[in-house]
Amino acid sequence: MKNIYSNIYEANLTNLKKAKKNIENNNVIGMPTETVYGLAGNAYSNKSVKKIFRLKKRPNFNPLIIHFRDLKKLKNEVILNKDFIRLYKAFCPGPITFILNKKKKSKISKMAIAGKKTIAVRFPKNKIARSLLKIVNVPLAAPSANIASKLSPTSAEDVADEFGNKIKFILDGGKCRFGLESTIIDLTTKPSILRPGIISKEKIQKALSKKIKNRKGIKIIKSPGQLKLHYSPGIPVKMNKKYPQKNQAFICLGKKFRNTKNYFNLSKNGSLHEAANNLYRTMRKIKKAKYKSIAVIKIPNRGIGQAINDRLKKASKK
Ligand code: AMP
Ligand code: MG
Repeated sequence: MKNIYSNIYEANLTNLKKAKKNIENNNVIGMPTETVYGLAGNAYSNKSVKKIFRLKKRPNFNPLIIHFRDLKKLKNEVILNKDFIRLYKAFCPGPITFILNKKKKSKISKMAIAGKKTIAVRFPKNKIARSLLKIVNVPLAAPSANIASKLSPTSAEDVADEFGNKIKFILDGGKCRFGLESTIIDLTTKPSILRPGIISKEKIQKALSKKIKNRKGIKIIKSPGQLKLHYSPGIPVKMNKKYPQKNQAFICLGKKFRNTKNYFNLSKNGSLHEAANNLYRTMRKIKKAKYKSIAVIKIPNRGIGQAINDRLKKASKK
């Protein structure tokens, strides 16, 4: 099907081969995953990685997640441990990112990991991402495909809107299955969750048969103030509101709300999974409709609701 964007490509074999060429030429491309769209480049190449940082306007101390197809290539880069193997078996490929210690001989671009001794690794489940990883045969550095501190993209069109013609090639995978980022778990010490996500702490605890902690803030961030505002729609966001002010957009949840005027219902039947999936799309819609601010109803802080509240909290920072 034709679309109005000249840089969005249907994910067929011909275009996967074109994507491979782009990666080999150190270009960066838009890649669908089950969480959000990524801005992908060869993780071994400083040249590609530099382009990712520049396009995203990402501070150079904030490392990128490195995407692998399976354990084969991973083994050259990081030291595996028991907790990792358990979680890999339980959830991978899938929406979870592991922080592991880097091997000395690792060839991953130092710039991609911001000179750290650890690497964040993920194994996306999305079929197109997996086909791409197979055909390029290198790990892909791929942060979310948005300008730093803004909303993550959940469709190929979002990526095109974000970067315009600065990005020449986006593989179209339709809407992301989950629409919210992966859970990040640090396995270099006692397991702790750095970013809540699709896979809940409870599920991880069950898989590991032990209690784990949420860690506040990501300690690699050298200047914490800088990255407080994140996942931002670019207008003020106020959490835990019962109703909106006049002319304010209201993000609500559950059957007692109708989708009228300034009301944007994340899920009529109150499903937190559906709400997570609609969150970024809804905030983009609100921004496009030129609202000046957003009020959000209280979101239950259980399961994936924790991930939603984490993103809303960061989006509401000044
Ligand atoms: P994104 O760039 O949107 O995909 O988000 C990736 C997140 O992973 C960022 O918050 C990074 O700070 C975090 N991250 C990447 N590498 C590491 C690492 N080695 N240790 C801790 N966090 C990391
Ligand atoms: Mg991001």
